[in-house]
Amino acid sequence: MKRESLPDLHKDIYNCPLCKTYCEQEHFHIQEDMEGNKELVYLHSILPVDLARIIAERQVISVCTICEDSYMWVKGKLVYPNYGEVPEPNDDLPEEIKTLYQEAASVFNLSPRSSAALLRLAIEKFLELEGYQGNLNKKISTLVTNGASDIIQKGLDAIRYYGNKGVHPGELDLSENKEDITYLFDLLNVISEEFITKPKRVNDFYSKLPFGFREHIDKRDRQTLK
Ligand SMILES: [Zn+2]
Repeated sequence: MKRESLPDLHKDIYNCPLCKTYCEQEHFHIQEDMEGNKELVYLHSILPVDLARIIAERQVISVCTICEDSYMWVKGKLVYPNYGEVPEPNDDLPEEIKTLYQEAASVFNLSPRSSAALLRLAIEKFLELEGYQGNLNKKISTLVTNGASDIIQKGLDAIRYYGNKGVHPGELDLSENKEDITYLFDLLNVISEEFITKPKRVNDFYSKLPFGFREHIDKRDRQTLK
């Protein structure tokens, strides 16, 4: 499902991070009175001047008007679920890989390092499903031998590097490189586009051509092979 608008506390309509529907979202913060009684205050009833401070300092709870589920923000950042900050997985990814992708997304805020390691595992499994054997380095090398494009090789090697648990903290501080980790999610999507989505689209389009025309092409190619 395509996302049209990312969750944003300053907006009341965007794609719900839970059900993904583009619809109205209601935001509340918890206010405590002098006696310690807590009440939910509707964020949009707050003056803009106070609103920015509350978003920056407090926990905010949002409720989706369609799925009626709630999610939470701390100091303006979506903490549950935290898919909000990373791109959505390519719909064509196999379920097993999509699950790893979602796990990587869910730990992204807490541990970018674990997130990168999970993405590396996702790419390893993905290549395994595509029929590649051996460790990740070996799989990439086979791909290159089979004529994989430069872009694919670079994307794969970048994920291999970032997701390596053996990377020394001094060499690459992953907690300081959240933007780079976000990009690893994009990379996995780009790679799966090349492997699955693009060929699928071309094949679907090709299969709509008249049978006689396709038969003619088959004949031509059989002759070329002779
Ligand atoms: Zn929803």
